[in-house]
Amino acid sequence: MTLIIKCHRCGFTLYKGSEIVTPYEVLKRYGFRCPKCITHLSETPREILIEKRSLARRVRRRIPLF
Ligand SMILES: [Zn+2]
Repeated sequence: MTLIIKCHRCGFTLYKGSEIVTPYEVLKRYGFRCPKCITHLSETPREILIEKRSLARRVRRRIPLF
């Protein structure tokens, strides 16, 4: 399972990995700004994308937070 945290504006991948991290931890490393488009990043994510991969198929599921 892969957790991906992306910038809501430009789609820059801020975090990608199998570890479960909080968006706050990730955004703190970047100083709450996207390194690509320098937009201010909100601590509360709008959407979390979890990718589940297997050899045969790839499943993408979107989990709305609000
Ligand atoms: Zn960005």
